[in-house]
Amino acid sequence: MQIINKIKEMQSLPDRIKREEKRIALVPTMGFLHKGHISLMKEGLKHAEFLVISIFVNPTQFGPGEDLESYPRNFERDFALAEKAGVNVIFAPEAKEIYSAHFQTYVTLQDLPNHLCGISRPDHFRGVATIVTKLFNIVKPNAAVFGQKDFQQLAVIKQMVSDLNLDIKIIGAPIIREDDGLALSSRNVYLSPSERLPALSLFKALNNSQRLLASGVTDASKIISEAVELIDSYRETVIDYIAVCDPETLTDIKRIEKPVLMALAVKVGKTRLIDNMVLEP
Ligand code: AMP
Repeated sequence: MQIINKIKEMQSLPDRIKREEKRIALVPTMGFLHKGHISLMKEGLKHAEFLVISIFVNPTQFGPGEDLESYPRNFERDFALAEKAGVNVIFAPEAKEIYSAHFQTYVTLQDLPNHLCGISRPDHFRGVATIVTKLFNIVKPNAAVFGQKDFQQLAVIKQMVSDLNLDIKIIGAPIIREDDGLALSSRNVYLSPSERLPALSLFKALNNSQRLLASGVTDASKIISEAVELIDSYRETVIDYIAVCDPETLTDIKRIEKPVLMALAVKVGKTRLIDNMVLEP
């Protein structure tokens, strides 16, 4: 496994790999790898013979007062996990390598960022779309894998790839959870032992919503208010949003007549957690 820090070096590699008639898969990450990331790597290897992961805590997707500085990092551990997973190259640039002092070009989407996480994180998806475009131009992958854990991010990337005619297959991979149901996230290390149980309320609320829908409750506001009640019953939680929406446009749905996305963001202590589930009537 090779570690590459420089754009020029990374950009020159794909031509050589493709000359050997190998396809390249990319898994973009911010590091502090866990089993969710590993599952994306395994998925990537189903679609390509050469696997690149990026480890880059992207400053442009963090807002003021968010956890850019304190975001968990452990490169040695990441290296060992990536090597075991069969990664060929880790692309791990410094922020100044990616964003020059005169950087001024961003990729923005018109509608998808105006929902869910985009409301409380206004520039987040601009940062995501921009870094992913840059990574696509640097790594030149045939395929790229993203987790459904960040459902809105996946929707944004798919839309961007379609709108800009990028010749890259985008693969969505399922949410990987702890045994107790908590969706894996690098940010879970922020949770104190006493915040674990409140953190589980997200998954409990999603399961409860699916049960309600299956029992015939199709009014989204009723399903949301039950979820609010469940999550609010823990004093450590502060709800950012709970939404029932169209999985493609992310616009709110009032009456559930087909599969819908239920998505939520909740602060547990200082940690902002997100989770989602496609609910089936
Ligand atoms: P991150 O390092 O948090 O930016 O995540 C990198 C990629 O891993 C994104 O495509 C995430 O959606 C994905 N990911 C993060 N957590 C999970 C999880 N629990 N299950 C599946 N994919 C995940």
